[in-house]
Amino acid sequence: MEKRQLLYEGKAKQMFATDDPDLVIQYFKDDATAFDGTKKSTIASKGVVNNACTEIFFRLLEQDGVETHFVERLSDREMLVKRLDIVPVEMIVRNVMAGSLARRLGLDEGAPLSAPIVEYCYKSDALHDPLINRWHVTVLGFAKPEEIDAMTALTLRVNEILRPFLAARKLLLVDMKLEFGRHHGRILLGDEICPDTCRFWDVDTGRKLDKDRFRHDLGDVAEAYHEVHRRLSSPA
Ligand code: 5GP
Repeated sequence: MEKRQLLYEGKAKQMFATDDPDLVIQYFKDDATAFDGTKKSTIASKGVVNNACTEIFFRLLEQDGVETHFVERLSDREMLVKRLDIVPVEMIVRNVMAGSLARRLGLDEGAPLSAPIVEYCYKSDALHDPLINRWHVTVLGFAKPEEIDAMTALTLRVNEILRPFLAARKLLLVDMKLEFGRHHGRILLGDEICPDTCRFWDVDTGRKLDKDRFRHDLGDVAEAYHEVHRRLSSPA
């Protein structure tokens, strides 16, 4: 496997071509941004932790029959993945009232939801990833009806697989963001699953162990990321 040219640089990751047109290398950086890139810093070893967490989650999901872009972890910061044509819709699934949902509805954070809520956001930093609905997705051509239906079902399934795995490690999965893409006509789960893209609260204390520590200057950010990785790596 030969690593070739940089294809794309995002806020937290770079994508490199390989000598196989079907495969790309996802490189995890320590750069952290929040509020659409207006807040910027680095979190020590974040890239290493996010790569390792993503590997753990993607292997678990593959075992449970969810197809992901994961092929193998190549190094501390590099993951070999299948090349995807990314659907420009961020899939959010929520189990507990928090974040933008709490702000939008003027509700306090922390109440468990009686069932998971799925939301769609149009992937555009310039527009601050606006909330959209299924009509926008299909009528504006971001995804076909059968694709958004498959992505919605997969999002709920991923949530149902990860929740007990995390609960067994004393982590409450408050919410998370998933991204999907097309690979030879199939919808695969892409991107990453890690403390950057999920809210994890300690089951006993409610302590936030995710990117909210960076967003809201709560301190001990790198420690929280390491703590999540330590718990994911330990047997339940
Ligand atoms: P909220 O809409 O409450 O800000 O985010 C809901 C969940 O999706 C949180 O776990 C949050 O970390 C994740 N999320 C939403 N949008 C983004 C995004 O643009 N980037 C990342 N890394 N996570 C996001």
